[in-house]
Amino acid sequence: MRRLIILGSYIDQEAFMGQLRKDILRRHGLASAGVLLFIALYYVGYGIEYGRAPSVWFYLITVLYLVGHIATVWFIYTERAMEGTDPSMTLPVMLLVILYMSGLMMLAPELRSIMILGYLNIMPFGVFRLTGRAFVGVSLFTIVCYSLVIFSTHYSASELLVPEFEVVIGVALMTSMLVYAFIGREFFILRKAYGEKNSELRRALARIEELAVTDELTGLNNRRYLLKTLEKQRALSIRQGIPFVVAFIDIDYFKRVNDEHGHRIGDQVLAELAHLLRVSVREIDLAARYGGEEFVLLLSGLNLEAATGVLERIRVSVENHRFSELELEQRVSIGVAQYRPDEASEDVLNRADRMLYEAKRLGRNRITLESEGVV
Ligand code: GH3
Ligand code: MG
Ligand code: MG
Repeated sequence: MRRLIILGSYIDQEAFMGQLRKDILRRHGLASAGVLLFIALYYVGYGIEYGRAPSVWFYLITVLYLVGHIATVWFIYTERAMEGTDPSMTLPVMLLVILYMSGLMMLAPELRSIMILGYLNIMPFGVFRLTGRAFVGVSLFTIVCYSLVIFSTHYSASELLVPEFEVVIGVALMTSMLVYAFIGREFFILRKAYGEKNSELRRALARIEELAVTDELTGLNNRRYLLKTLEKQRALSIRQGIPFVVAFIDIDYFKRVNDEHGHRIGDQVLAELAHLLRVSVREIDLAARYGGEEFVLLLSGLNLEAATGVLERIRVSVENHRFSELELEQRVSIGVAQYRPDEASEDVLNRADRMLYEAKRLGRNRITLESEGVV
């Protein structure tokens, strides 16, 4: 599952989103567990008569925090957050926790030096999500909140403020925030570089996948792709009764083209024939280069009779076309077979190949159907 998150692109999008959501919710669980510890600390402080009794304000801000965090998690759960730029809602939750911790410090100034850890605990959550700028913003926000805490303590419990000590704490807090902002920025840069590499890899992979099923010379799909598509057609034919026809096409006396005009012209003829085949079939059909100067057409939803019409048109258009810069005339022989229910896909291919052989034997430049009884 880890791989899903890292590559998360060409794999099942739904599984990826599900895993992402789980990861996000786990992080929120951890963050709120951290906050609950500080709530417990508040009660412990009260229990040992060091802190203060939970007041109405304590309950009010605790309920506000909980409602805020639960609402965020609900927002993530309903997938609405996924549409935004920050699907994990890290920034709002960090601000919420910082505000809440500041509130607790104002309500129990005796516990301030321990509660200050709450600021630091929430920072690492931003390292993986926030932009460098947002991280600096959060650090500044924390410093402002802490200043307000000191300000409020000055009025509510000024006896607890020891100026020299406060300066030391303030400097320590600011240093920590600076360090976090720096680390957050570094991570952001790393994450960006990693994301760019990732999409580069994705593009390269898509290109490799395309190359693996494409014939270089003609741009048609290759035999590997043909065999895969044949399997799909077979499944469609078995499940939904959709007929299909396989046609083997071979150029007549092609060796002569090479012998008389060279390989370069031979290659041109092959590429032009490939183009002619591609534009002669429909979107749902497939024209593939089987190998050498042999091509295969998969004609979907047609029976032998209908396919013959299409193939005859192709045969005639080859006859009329002038190939390469030398304006050469070419002919093709075509062997045709229709898929029979439940047979293996190579069976229909072999029968079409045998029909091609028959077409050659009968004099070339023709179409031979298996229904003509020659097997
Ligand atoms: P026929 O099919 O009518 O019996 O005669 P043919 O001359 O076409 O016979 P064959 O199938 O034996 O010859 C195929 C030739 O196709 C042989 C080979 O040199 C040529 N060929 C195969 N692949 C390529 C290719 O990629 N480029 C070029 N230029 N020629 C190729
Ligand atoms: Mg040939
Ligand atoms: Mg051949």
